[in-house]
Amino acid sequence: MGNICGESMITSKLLKNRAGFEENLRKLIGRPILLIELDVFALPCGCSGITANMRGLEVDDLEVFEPQLMALVKEMASSLEVKPTVTFARLVPGSSIVASLNWRALCSRCYPEFARGEGKMPRPDLYLLQFERRK
Ligand SMILES: [Zn+2]
Repeated sequence: MGNICGESMITSKLLKNRAGFEENLRKLIGRPILLIELDVFALPCGCSGITANMRGLEVDDLEVFEPQLMALVKEMASSLEVKPTVTFARLVPGSSIVASLNWRALCSRCYPEFARGEGKMPRPDLYLLQFERRK
């Protein structure tokens, strides 16, 4: 696929991934799930990754569909060439609503913050899907 006028490689890739991920999630969960914004980020500390801001996704969905969801999550990371140390869902505090899915290649300063926690929910607003511990 060549460049469409006004669209760079990265933006066309993002648009394609946003649409594809949303479609696959809808098929998997059987409800209208929205991926309202797909962002690639870099932080001053050295962390980088992708954020998918979601509407309509619940923690229950993560638990029930985890194996299938993980396949989609991994596909997105490899398609956007992100090698996440951690993949997690950020919840709206005090609720079961998933605000975003996050793929993050952790810097050495932020890594301990995640490594300290235990289980699927190291913090009440985090649901861990994947975490690669350093040896
Ligand atoms: Zn960091």
